[in-house]
Amino acid sequence: MRIYLDHNATTPVAREVAEAMFAICRDEFGNPSSVHHFGQRAKAVLDGARACVAALIGAEPPEVVFTSGGTEADNLALRGAAAAAAESGRRHIVTAAFEHEAVLNTVKALGRAGYTTTLLPPEASGILSPQRLRDAVTADTAVVSIMHANNEVGTIQPIAELAAIARTCGALFHTDAVQSAGKIRVDVRALGVDLASFSAHKLYGPKGVGALWIRRGVRLMPVLSGGRQERNRRPGTENVPGIVGFGVAARLAASRLEKEATRLAALRDRLEEGVLARVPRTEVNGARESRVPNTTNISFAGVEAESLLIALDLEGIAVSTGAACSSGTVEPSHVLKAMALPGHRAQSSIRFSLGIANTEQDVDRLLEILPGLVARLRSLAPVLR
Ligand code: PLP
Repeated sequence: MRIYLDHNATTPVAREVAEAMFAICRDEFGNPSSVHHFGQRAKAVLDGARACVAALIGAEPPEVVFTSGGTEADNLALRGAAAAAAESGRRHIVTAAFEHEAVLNTVKALGRAGYTTTLLPPEASGILSPQRLRDAVTADTAVVSIMHANNEVGTIQPIAELAAIARTCGALFHTDAVQSAGKIRVDVRALGVDLASFSAHKLYGPKGVGALWIRRGVRLMPVLSGGRQERNRRPGTENVPGIVGFGVAARLAASRLEKEATRLAALRDRLEEGVLARVPRTEVNGARESRVPNTTNISFAGVEAESLLIALDLEGIAVSTGAACSSGTVEPSHVLKAMALPGHRAQSSIRFSLGIANTEQDVDRLLEILPGLVARLRSLAPVLR
């Protein structure tokens, strides 16, 4: 039996999603830009999916621009807003050090292109303090980008408060909501943001499709050049089957949101409390009170996280570390580093992210084998603290 506890990396495609995508591939091959019958049918299914995604996030359908995923949505938001704002002379971009690489590396690229950039550190809780943003914004700030929920520790940011700070200085506010949509209620208007990124494969939809929500009235330059699809904001013939899959996934997510969030929170707490009680020298990373319900990130003192990940995988349990492998060395998670956790703690941390198919039996199986694995690894590497 294999147990998948890595839903923040990606989720299995829901049966309803796969069936809808298959039917579209089989029956609706038209190009949505074509004027004839075939094209208009494809356009109708695209519009249906747009309405479903808009409903999940409290938006108007024309504000939803489909992209090739969360990464492209983040790029379009930041590059598009920065280019539009530069015309008015604003050239400062603010983000946080615990963002996903899709935002971090885009902001770095904009820095190389001549924009001034500020990278704000979060607190040790994994939450960005509004005061830090207040101190960073200026009349030159074009865009502020702060993620809604962090992918590694799950912490939820005070987006409404942060967006209000950006608004007072006339800057646009973008949030990467890839890890919150489908897990907690996301209402783009209540959050008070201008731009928000989403990805289908984090909510039981297909990979390679996402969306950028652009508040009506926000000026944004397209990043790609080409045709006039997506109201001139994202050229290229639309990925109709993928977008339809995203629409079905969004509809399913909206229909089960509260119930599933309550179930997953109970399951996550069972896992977390079980680990803390049964495995000595373990600690939860990030604020426990303000998190998406499916995620916990736990450090196992004296254990190299990668070794524990592999040991768990050999037992059929899939988890993850936020570490990145580069040129043969394992770099500890930039998120945990940004939270100023000591290096050894960042290096011994595992993310467990639960999802729809997980049960109490899965959690109990993990709790059964984890103490022995950790004890074995600690005995093999007694020098690690
Ligand atoms: N933003 C966050 C917070 C993510 O967790 C991810 C995926 O890991 C992305 C962006 C990128 O999304 P995609 O894989 O659809 O490009």
